[in-house]
Amino acid sequence: MNKLRNILIILFYLTGIPFLRRIMLNKPLLRIWCLHDIKESEVGKFEEKVKYLKSKYNIISIDDFKSNNLDKKKLNILFTFDDGYSNWLEYILPVLDKYSIKALFFINDDFKEYSSLLTEKGHTLGGHSMSHKYLTKINDEELNQEVAGSVPSDYFAYPFGDKKSYNKEVINKVSENYKYAFSIIPGFNNKKSNSYKLHRDSLDVDTPNWIFNLWFKGCYDFKKWI
Ligand SMILES: [Zn+2]
Repeated sequence: MNKLRNILIILFYLTGIPFLRRIMLNKPLLRIWCLHDIKESEVGKFEEKVKYLKSKYNIISIDDFKSNNLDKKKLNILFTFDDGYSNWLEYILPVLDKYSIKALFFINDDFKEYSSLLTEKGHTLGGHSMSHKYLTKINDEELNQEVAGSVPSDYFAYPFGDKKSYNKEVINKVSENYKYAFSIIPGFNNKKSNSYKLHRDSLDVDTPNWIFNLWFKGCYDFKKWI
């Protein structure tokens, strides 16, 4: 699956379209990395990736995002984590701390009891619904519960995050409770982006650096048009 994806990424890169697109897009540009859990065996890979990204890009916090404190020359990267895994505390937080990175954690209801362990380290919480259902497949009452009952925050990530995970009704409900909402459809974010359709890049830690590099250049952004 990833092999085919990687071939498509290279082919799209070779067309020159991503390059031209990047020139045309309004700067500054932001890519948002979306991660889930990390296994013990992947902690080293995660740290390597953090080091690599830090050496190449401008890593920002959600406060930088909010105040538009972004680099116009370098690509800006925001770290986000979804769902809620107790291994975040053991494997992810020490690495983020070591590299002074402040991340945004979108959590479900069952992780709320651990949430203070994230905020006391300076990280930010976002809503991810109560029980991680497709918000487009539930009735109005359930939709209200899932969204309004989630973590109070300015930020919300649609469960699943694909094209089918939100629609007009879902966005309306989310906008009553949150200022920004995030998908996992890859793409650049800038001032012109729709605040309720922000793009994120769901890439595993064992993805090679060259794929990260091409991906963040927009070489997989054709996915949002198909
Ligand atoms: Zn999720």
